[in-house]
Parts: sequence; C-alpha cells; structure tokens
Amino acid sequence: MATVMNHKEIILNCTRVNHQYMRLPAGKVPGLKVMAALYKRIASQSLDCAQAWVQDSPCPNHEPAVDAFWWGAVAWSDAFGCSMGVDMAEWSRLFVYPHDQFANYLRPGNPPPPLEEVHESPANVILTLDARWTELVIKLTAQWGFFHHLKDKDAMLEAQRLQGELRTPGSPTYKAFLESDLAFFHHLFKNFPFSEQTEKYINAWLKRAEEAL
Ligand SMILES: [Zn+2]
Repeated sequence: MATVMNHKEIILNCTRVNHQYMRLPAGKVPGLKVMAALYKRIASQSLDCAQAWVQDSPCPNHEPAVDAFWWGAVAWSDAFGCSMGVDMAEWSRLFVYPHDQFANYLRPGNPPPPLEEVHESPANVILTLDARWTELVIKLTAQWGFFHHLKDKDAMLEAQRLQGELRTPGSPTYKAFLESDLAFFHHLFKNFPFSEQTEKYINAWLKRAEEAL
C-alpha cells in the first residue's frame, strides 16, 4: 500500500464500500424491498457519520438502526475472525478495533456479547453469521429506537423471514447472498493492512466459500 490509512480512514472506506455494495441482493431476492430501503438509509447515514469522525467533528444525527448495525458489526467481526481461523491477535487489532471505535463514536457504550463462532464450511460460516448479525441488528434496533422500530416494522418482518432462508444451503436466497457477500468482502478486506500471511489465508478461505456457488 502506498499510503498508510489510520483506523478512521479505514472505516470511512468501509462505509463507502458498504454504500456501494450493501451486501443485500435485493434485485435477486424477492421480498426485500422495505429492508433494502432501510439498509440504504443505514449505509448513507454511516457514510456521513464516518466522514465527521475522520474530521474529529461531533457525530451527526442518525437513526438507532445505524448504531445497531455497527455494534452488530463488532459482534460479527469477532465471531467471523474466530470462525475463519485467522490469527486473532492481528484480527482484533486491525479489524475488530476500528469497528469498535466507530461504534463507540456513534453510540458510546459496551459491546453486545460477540456472536458465537461457527464451525462449518466457509459458505455456511458466512451465511449463518449473516443471519445472526441481522438478528442482532433487529434486536438492538428495537431496544434502542422503539419508535423508529415501529416505522421499520415491515423491514424487520422481512429480515426475520430471511433468517430461515439464509440457513438453507443451495436455496436461491442462500446463493444470492453468498455471491453478494463475496463481492463485498473482496472490496472490504482490501482496506485493512493485514500481514501477507493473513491476507493469503483469507483469500484461500474465501475461495473455498466460492465453491458453494
Ligand atoms: Zn451520527
């Protein structure tokens, strides 16, 4: 890498990737319209907040779902590293820590307990943790923003229905999410200054996940 980014710039880039890819194949999976609209709002508010963070400005107003999304990402990132089997000292320092700092900027507090790690094929790890992350985001959104939650009731219903489909290997929803996640991860992980060994390990692991498509 030509320039070394600090953890705030790294997260800003992540919010850009998130804004572009959304990890939600709404076009390919029917019945995700409301959820896609909510994810779009989360992505664009996250980008605004990350921009303010990089400039050391106070956090702009944002919806509770944004807090839920990023605290969910903290819980997810820890479990994802464990499940992949990467060097956890490096992963915590380079990947979990920036997410944790951003979540604390959005809504200072204690992280929810990490998601449970998954000992299955790489594709199943990705989608099981996707489902658990979504579940946690719903739970935290309801907890932190009851009135917003009512507004987003339909999105939450869609998300709940999705849970089962993400746990059905080979289903069209499973494949569509896996494909979109893999494209997302390739762009996302590029932002982090992992060691060469870890980078190789992650790429090989993602290649194994690709075989399930
Ligand atoms: Zn904000």
